[in-house]
Amino acid sequence: MKINGTLINYYFHCKRQFWLHGNRINLEANSEDVRIGKILHELKSEGKNNTEISIDNVKIDKLTDEYLVEIKKSDADVEAVKWQVILYLKILKDKGIERKGKIEFDEKNKQKKKIIYVELTEALEKELEKLELEMKELLEKDMPPKNYEVKKCKRCAYYEYCYV
Ligand code: SF4
Repeated sequence: MKINGTLINYYFHCKRQFWLHGNRINLEANSEDVRIGKILHELKSEGKNNTEISIDNVKIDKLTDEYLVEIKKSDADVEAVKWQVILYLKILKDKGIERKGKIEFDEKNKQKKKIIYVELTEALEKELEKLELEMKELLEKDMPPKNYEVKKCKRCAYYEYCYV
C-alpha cells in the first residue's frame, strides 16, 4: 500500500490507529470529530473556487506560488501534521514542483490563526524514506499494536473498537 497523508498522520498519532486504517478497518464515518472536520472543509470551499488539489494518492488543501498549504482545525498533534506536509512536499518535489510547507491551524474560538512553516531538507527526505519503510513493515504485521488508554483515545474514531 502507498503511504498517503492520512496514514502518515495516524502513524504519529497512534501506531494502532495507523495499522487499523492501513488494513482497511475504517471507522471514521462514526466519528463526530471527523464529521465536523469534513463539514468545515466543505463550508470553506463553498462560494470559492475549490482550491483542493489531488496528486497521486494525496489531497493538498492549497498550492500557492510559494507554499503548499495544509489547513487543520486543531493543533492537538503538530508532529503528525508536520510529517503529513513533509510527505506532500516530497511528492510534489518528485514531480518537479518545489514549495515550502505552511500549516494553518484554524481553531474555532481563537482570533489569531497559528501558523507553522516546514521546509523539506535533505535530512528530512532521508528520515521520510526510513519512516516509509518502517510504516510498510508495520502494515504487513498480522495484528495491530496493542491499544493503550491515553487521553487522545477518547476522541478517536476507533475508541469503541479498542475499548468496548
Ligand atoms: S482508541 Fe486509542 S489506541 Fe485505539 S486507535 Fe484510537 S488512539 Fe489508538
